[in-house]
Amino acid sequence: MGLESILIVDFHMHSQCSDGQLVPQDLMDLAVTRGCEQIAITDHDTVAAYAELNARRQPIKLITGCEFSSQWQGREIHIVGLNLDLQVAELLDGLAVQQRARSQRAERIAAQLSRHGFADAHAGALKLAQGASLGRPHFARYLVEIGAVANFQQAFKRYLAAGKPAYVRAEWAAIEQVCGWIAAAGGVAVLAHPLKYKMTFTKLRSLLTVFRDAGGSAIEVISGAQQPEQTRRMASLARQFGLQASVGSDFHQPGQPWAALGQVAPLPDDCHPVWSGW
Ligand code: MN
Ligand code: MN
Ligand code: MN
Repeated sequence: MGLESILIVDFHMHSQCSDGQLVPQDLMDLAVTRGCEQIAITDHDTVAAYAELNARRQPIKLITGCEFSSQWQGREIHIVGLNLDLQVAELLDGLAVQQRARSQRAERIAAQLSRHGFADAHAGALKLAQGASLGRPHFARYLVEIGAVANFQQAFKRYLAAGKPAYVRAEWAAIEQVCGWIAAAGGVAVLAHPLKYKMTFTKLRSLLTVFRDAGGSAIEVISGAQQPEQTRRMASLARQFGLQASVGSDFHQPGQPWAALGQVAPLPDDCHPVWSGW
């Protein structure tokens, strides 16, 4: 194990500013409890968490970050931007564009749900979101709350997942655009959870080609709980494409077995950690 991989880091997690359960300070406190030495809070298309946390007052290093949704060949691809200068106008304008896409999507989801007998879905989800931008998880929680479905998973299976009655495709920015915002803010663009797209290896390689050509320079070699064989494959991809390696749990809430904050496998030796210069 390389010296750097001994550092406990987690550069992918969500707070209540998007669809996570914990407020930013609680997320930070949990990371400290878990022995993390560096973290980034990467909410979906918002950096609001950083307005709530004073990075200088934290016991461990807080790297700025954000998880951007983008689209490529009809698929939703997530790109984590790390070490961003949050004052850069191009970044803030980009985030505003994404937030608009997000709220328009939420309104269309609510309209679909209303057609299926849930007239109060929009108001209900808004209340659950507590000021965060509305996403599908908020609608799912609302459907659970009113007893329309038995649990969160069922809300997706019956209504919110692709192909279901309240599914609405979001119109996200292209990969090139997202990488452009991240570059303008001096950050590093990281391809998030590469295994989650369930692509063939060939498809994943063409995505990585597009991503790298757009200025993307890192990949999550470790994303949540994964098999050692998967880690080796991701590390080998990173090497082939000359990408740095990042590590993230994609933590949203306590109790998710696939995403325990700060408890992920170390990077293989032959990887170049994205945080080595920080
Ligand atoms: Mn999420
Ligand atoms: Mn994601
Ligand atoms: Mn995520």
